[in-house]
Amino acid sequence: MKLFEYSLEELGGMLESREVSSVELTRALLERIAAVDERIGAYLEVDAEGALIRAAAADQRLAAGREVTPLTGIPLGLKDLLSTRGLKTTCGSRMLADYRPEYDATVVARLQEAGAVILGKLNMDEFAMGSSTENSALKKTVNPWDFSRVPGGSSGGSTAAVAAAEAVATLGSDTGGSIRQPASFCGVVGLKPSYGRVSRYGLVAFASSLDQIGPVTLTVADAALLLEVIAGRDERDSTSVDRPVPAYHAGLKQEIKGLRVGVPQEYFGAGLEAGVAAAVDRAIAELKAAGAEVVEVSLPHTEYAVATYYLLATAEASSNLARYDGVKYGFRAAADDLREMYFKTRAQGFGAEVKRRIMLGTYALSSGYYDAYYRKAQQVRNLIRQDFDRVFAAVDLLAAPVCPTPAFAFGEKLDDPLAMYLSDILTIPVNLAGLPAISVPCGFSGHLPVGLQLIAPAFAEEVLLRAAWHYEQRGGFCGRRPELDREGGK
Ligand code: GLN
Repeated sequence: MKLFEYSLEELGGMLESREVSSVELTRALLERIAAVDERIGAYLEVDAEGALIRAAAADQRLAAGREVTPLTGIPLGLKDLLSTRGLKTTCGSRMLADYRPEYDATVVARLQEAGAVILGKLNMDEFAMGSSTENSALKKTVNPWDFSRVPGGSSGGSTAAVAAAEAVATLGSDTGGSIRQPASFCGVVGLKPSYGRVSRYGLVAFASSLDQIGPVTLTVADAALLLEVIAGRDERDSTSVDRPVPAYHAGLKQEIKGLRVGVPQEYFGAGLEAGVAAAVDRAIAELKAAGAEVVEVSLPHTEYAVATYYLLATAEASSNLARYDGVKYGFRAAADDLREMYFKTRAQGFGAEVKRRIMLGTYALSSGYYDAYYRKAQQVRNLIRQDFDRVFAAVDLLAAPVCPTPAFAFGEKLDDPLAMYLSDILTIPVNLAGLPAISVPCGFSGHLPVGLQLIAPAFAEEVLLRAAWHYEQRGGFCGRRPELDREGGK
């Protein structure tokens, strides 16, 4: 096995025993990126120099046996909406193409305190709006399993990088599925934590009541290790919750016998591809074989989730994106007066999808339409939340597909925004309800990976990760990677 192919958990042991140094490992990853990223397109920027400096510092820490954590010396990549001091943070947008933040996001600071090495920044749909990474204004990212297919989105760079072994693990963000859906398309693990579990400070906001940062990894154990470091209260984000962070990794192996797993019938409706349904059914059978009790449940308001989300998320986005006016930071268009400067900056700086959403959101919030759209959507959001509260009185977890189909072809949904939005039907309800959920590889439909989605009550990440880990041991699909030279060109 090559050095860049190991999991975070395995590498942690190898670094600690000094079998390998962080500088060696970081070099191996940088060489891997140089060898394959021209074809994959996961990275927007690689910080080789900074990474090697951090790696050398990590090696000193490891040699001294001081403050060593499971992340010390581990090379990671970051979705390009996480603020990194001095390192470009573009959000995949022309608007921020040259923006270098003055500060680090809290998650970035925590990774660095733990001794992690930041390799660089990863491609994404512009301002995290999209499901295919095709909305990036800066780069095209392909699915490492099939270059004619999208990696999913919006964290497509984060998931493609892990699948192509260009980072040991990465962070993404999930507002309506943007960690889970691309994880499922790329055959890696993606965890969206409960709303409030991870600080959003320094995450460039899309829809603040929905956004969460989470890990993208090769295995469930790796996700547990990363979550432990990034979770927890942060004074700088008032929505981060002051609850102890459990030892997620240490709890993985505890029994799941008797765990009650609900299967929501609405998640297996029309449009679910046969290959996806078969893989997910097999995964649910494995959970049963591991001792879980499986029962059918109903989430009756599921069909309203897409409409609700696309009103609330666009409303919040229209307000969050008002700051890009060419005055304080980012792109500024040449103009003769202030008004013209505002107009031209926003017209030239934002791509089509971002403009569509700003207009939709502004409309939904405007006086006269507020009650009919925004307020109504808030009410339906409550109904969706109550659906989950009701089923979680009877079950511990839910199991379902992540997306009705595997990775689709480039261009397939690009001209039809509604088709793109509708593909988010199985991930969005979780965000509206603030719940944690994970995508775990559970097989293939043809040659394309499929993800099993597990959903837990708020702040029950421990149970979620444990069930996912037990499934992973039996299912055997985690850790598989595409043969880039053989499969890639398809
Ligand atoms: N695909 C969804 C959207 O376009 C979700 C995006 C996300 O989670 N950031 O809004």
